[in-house]
Amino acid sequence: MSRIAYVNGRYLPHAEANVHIEDRGFQFADSVYEVCEVWRGSIVDMTRHLDRLKRSLGELSIAWPVSRRALEAILREVVSRNRVTNGLVYLQITRGVARRDFNFPKPGTMPTLVVTSRSINPAVPKKSTEDGVRVITTPDIRWGRVDIKTTGMTAQVLAKETAVRAGAKEAWMVDRDDRITEGSSSTAWIIDGEGTLITRPTDMNILPGITRMAIMDYAKANGMKVEERPFTLEEARGAREAFITSASATLTPVVQIDDFVIGNGKPGSIASGMRAAFHDGVEKLPVRHY
Ligand code: PMP
Repeated sequence: MSRIAYVNGRYLPHAEANVHIEDRGFQFADSVYEVCEVWRGSIVDMTRHLDRLKRSLGELSIAWPVSRRALEAILREVVSRNRVTNGLVYLQITRGVARRDFNFPKPGTMPTLVVTSRSINPAVPKKSTEDGVRVITTPDIRWGRVDIKTTGMTAQVLAKETAVRAGAKEAWMVDRDDRITEGSSSTAWIIDGEGTLITRPTDMNILPGITRMAIMDYAKANGMKVEERPFTLEEARGAREAFITSASATLTPVVQIDDFVIGNGKPGSIASGMRAAFHDGVEKLPVRHY
């Protein structure tokens, strides 16, 4: 079965799905995106993802290419046309096609909308969940508005490649004060000796993760203590447990940070418990808008 992509109003086989060479997404990474998990055929946390998309578009003054309701229908249609039961759906909106010039194109330029979807082999997340993953650390060299989900991610691409070359799954980026900001494509968490979950507050230095929000709601609803504060690399090395969250990795335990083994080197009970509860418990909580 050939994969189908949505591009500006048309559902096309991937091989025929193109955008113009003067698209601002291609020229300037002048574009935003979202990735949602697809679980048992449903799009997980779509409302929160589209709330974040609205914020990203607003911060960059990019117009909605279609109404929010129409976008929801397109996302579902792409998932269904690709017969994805468990996997991901991806959307990107760029400022559109215009002669290459830094200033915004003339008003009325249509934003570009691309949507794709693919299945995930369940064996991969299963193994990461059971064994946990290793992360390495690397300086955070990104720009000052990483709270906006733009496709300008050269720094994260380099960080991830450094991790992969070191045989690790993820890179945790570290600010000038030796505090972890976040993973190259995930939110970073630790759990201290008292069982308190610690993750960085959502300021302009991290992307406000949707899975982060879901886990936080779940933890609070289940009487766990959560502290939103920056944590240092040293604290992370001594943590009882650590984990990462993202739409594509849900919650994945971290068992090693650089050369430091976390806990006994196996996924901890708190992280593993939350992971097991994720799809049943987390999604049923009321949606929080921001
Ligand atoms: N931080 C960064 C830098 C990311 O790229 C991602 C995933 N897109 C996340 C955090 C996790 O966000 P979410 O839970 O919304 O996938």
